Amino acid sequence: MNEALTIKDQIKKLIELQKLDADIYALKRDLRQKPEYLTSLKQDFENKKANLILHEEQYKSLLIAHKTLEGDLKTQDEAVAKANSQLSLLKTNKEYTAKLTEIEHIKADKSLIEEKLILSYDTLDAAKAAVEKEKGVVAQEEKKYLAEKKIVEDSVAVLEDKVKVLTSQRSMIVPSVPKISLSRYERVLEHTDGLAIVAVANGVCGGCYMNVPAQVANQIKMSKELVFCETCARIIYLEDDL
Ligand SMILES: [Zn+2]
Repeated sequence: MNEALTIKDQIKKLIELQKLDADIYALKRDLRQKPEYLTSLKQDFENKKANLILHEEQYKSLLIAHKTLEGDLKTQDEAVAKANSQLSLLKTNKEYTAKLTEIEHIKADKSLIEEKLILSYDTLDAAKAAVEKEKGVVAQEEKKYLAEKKIVEDSVAVLEDKVKVLTSQRSMIVPSVPKISLSRYERVLEHTDGLAIVAVANGVCGGCYMNVPAQVANQIKMSKELVFCETCARIIYLEDDL
């Protein structure tokens, strides 16, 4: 509807748009990074949980081994009692001596089991302490994750609001820019990290800092059409010229 707008006026409008678009671009980049940050926090939390499970499993298998030793000890006790009760029934000295030897063997086995059990108590205690410690770590990590999650969600809401406000400001400028210029500007914007229109200062493009040849600068001065940087393809203008 404003096809009659001069090139200089179009550039002024595009500069206004660019100010908003730069902010929108930065906000959207922040918005993209927020979930990534949350995902990495969640991963930390999950890793801590996995570590706790590992410790719990280790404790369980140690406990099973411990119970087995206790069972073995009981078996040996019963064997000693049984052998002792058999002593009085034996008729000959030879049988009696043999039974005594058997009892000594059982007792020797038993004392080996008892030594293992003593070590097992220590190992179990250490494993139990490690589980408790990891539980504390997980609880701490969960608290941290949930607190950070809340902060991130709140800041996402704030950023989204800002984008909405800027987008609505943008939509008030857009209708005054001729469609062809607007679509060129937006195409460049998409490919240049949110910076589509830049001033040439001291003969250098403000986007890529490469020299702008004299004939291109002259083209800008003629104000007949939008002029693009030959290196970075951004729309270029001369600040003094506006
Ligand atoms: Zn450039």
